[in-house]
Amino acid sequence: MVNLTATLSTLIAANHILDYLNVLDSFGHISVRNPNNNHTFFLALQMGAAVVSGPKDIGEYLVADGSGVNGTNGGHPERYIHSEILKRYPDVNAVIHSHNEDVLPYTITGSVSVQPTYHMAGFLGDQVPNFDIESAYNETDPRDMLVNTPQLGAALAAVLGTNISQPTSPLYTTALQRGHGFITTGTSIEQVTEFAYYATRNARVQTRAIGLSAYAGMGIDGVQYLSTDERRDSKNMNIWISYKPWQQWALQSERSGMYVNQLGTPPI
Ligand SMILES: [Zn+2]
Repeated sequence: MVNLTATLSTLIAANHILDYLNVLDSFGHISVRNPNNNHTFFLALQMGAAVVSGPKDIGEYLVADGSGVNGTNGGHPERYIHSEILKRYPDVNAVIHSHNEDVLPYTITGSVSVQPTYHMAGFLGDQVPNFDIESAYNETDPRDMLVNTPQLGAALAAVLGTNISQPTSPLYTTALQRGHGFITTGTSIEQVTEFAYYATRNARVQTRAIGLSAYAGMGIDGVQYLSTDERRDSKNMNIWISYKPWQQWALQSERSGMYVNQLGTPPI
């Protein structure tokens, strides 16, 4: 059995890191699969990431349908993002959903897709699909853009595609949500935190590069993105190196004095 205190301490720390680095606003969230039970996952209750501070702030939910277990009642209405991704892709153990403002413009400009601009964004791969929730609504659903039913969660999870050579994994790590934000997935809290951070910074770099290129009269075609080989090999590097930024970010956010982690410093 894995030490659950370490898992929950890491999840609380990730909430703090994602706030500290401005990856999440007060509505974003991160989940982790229960390492001792593939069929449940942990996700903070309905509260901002910065104020998550102890086990009482964490809910446990069924992967099958997002319902609470072990005393969890209610929680975040968008927990179906997490349940449906974890259900569809058994290799995924952690999911982040963000409204980051550097990424948002790419969700509403159909002609400009997110591309990896530098080596730390190789995990974005060959494509970052853009999920349009309008295509998944039932006629009577409120148009509040929230992924707040299993059906909407399943439609969002599906845009990540299936990796043919490893069907338990998604084809793409990351997807945009039109007029809402993005999701990214990983095999661990540390990895998905790295992916989310660099998804936001890559968007910032791409926007600046497009602006420079336009200024130089080259338009959008003047920007050189990573090649297919560079994306693949950089992704492999992104995966093995995730321990390094995690160590720094965990200590930075803890020493900032802005957050409380009742379970102490996570494993670093
Ligand atoms: Zn949201």
